[in-house]
Amino acid sequence: MAEDRAETTCIVVGAGIAGLLAARKLKEHGYSVKVIDKGKKVGGRMATRHIGSTVFDVGAQYFTVRDDHFAMLINAWRNNGYVEEWGRGFESADHRVSADGHPRYRVTPYMRALPERLAENLDVQCATKIAAVAAENGGWKLEDANGNLYSAQTLLMTAPAPQSLALLKAGDVTLNEAASNALEAIEYDPCIALLVELDGPSALPEPGGIRTPSDTILWMADNHAKGISPEGYGVTIHGCPEFSRDYYDADDAYLEKMLLGGAYEYLNADVLGTHLHRWRYSQTARCHPELYMAVDAPAPLVFAGDGFGGPRVEGAALSGLAAAEAIIHRA
Ligand SMILES: Cc1cc2nc3c(=O)[nH]c(=O)nc-3n(C[C@H](O)[C@H](O)[C@H](O)COP(=O)(O)OP(=O)(O)OC[C@H]3O[C@@H](n4cnc5c(N)ncnc54)[C@H](O)[C@@H]3O)c2cc1C
Repeated sequence: MAEDRAETTCIVVGAGIAGLLAARKLKEHGYSVKVIDKGKKVGGRMATRHIGSTVFDVGAQYFTVRDDHFAMLINAWRNNGYVEEWGRGFESADHRVSADGHPRYRVTPYMRALPERLAENLDVQCATKIAAVAAENGGWKLEDANGNLYSAQTLLMTAPAPQSLALLKAGDVTLNEAASNALEAIEYDPCIALLVELDGPSALPEPGGIRTPSDTILWMADNHAKGISPEGYGVTIHGCPEFSRDYYDADDAYLEKMLLGGAYEYLNADVLGTHLHRWRYSQTARCHPELYMAVDAPAPLVFAGDGFGGPRVEGAALSGLAAAEAIIHRA
């Protein structure tokens, strides 16, 4: 296969929020950056699915802001009309609303639209699964699942840590013991998600979401009430971490029955169809304490994403930006 040896100085694996924000910053600083993602579309876990006329946010549902730097980004996105406040908290099954009072932001018109906007004017190649990463001539050589090769001097890996480690192993790259222990210590909860098409509005409380409505369910959202699915009614259900871990490999029919059973009293409408999605790496359960991890041998390599510094969309965004700064200032 032909090798792409154009003047790419940095390859970013992963077009989630971490990889895209990093790539934008690197490009601003004159880097030639290529972003590669195995997904058909950008966004990673900021995922949206259209089923008929119904729109579902499948992964991240909303985001919160704690850090001043992220608050500046959010303000810019609010001014551009990319994000808006969805609410200040959600009820749980015992009708208590989360007490912190922080704004919860939704993306307009739906979650994946934010990464799509961030990907504009970047060199992003989707539907390309990297199979192995190997060191070559002081830089990196990546091979995709079809045998195509990509080269870069610097590599930024933003996939969940177990996936990044697997790519290095496939390319016979050995990290020092401290780095590989740190990556192996990062943990993620799985999440089994069920998308439920309804023939009318659900009974979920305002503003359209509920926390832990049952033992098996962590979260439910009404995508119509949220404002992302004006033409159709649909509910996103996220199984709780324990249930998702214990039943990850159970058959679809069983999982649908369990999740629908736990959600029943909030549906309030006939079910038109269901669609199951398994997230092996959902939200970070244990993060690396720093915002990124840089390794200089055998060539410049930086790890970032929500496994670093802090979980959620906010943590991933801050990690991507910090990783880009580290690459820029290392040069
Ligand atoms: C069910 C669920 C609910 C969530 N709810 C919330 C929430 O309400 N609020 C919140 O703030 N956060 C939430 N999160 C977490 C949030 O979505 C993530 O923290 C954040 O989106 C992670 O961004 P990232 O860029 O680090 O990783 P990702 O978005 O996972 O991006 C990594 C990318 O790497 C790509 N990749 C992996 N391996 C390869 C390969 N071999 N070759 C090429 N590409 C590869 C993947 O396709 C992916 O696009 C939720 C996540 C899930 C799954």
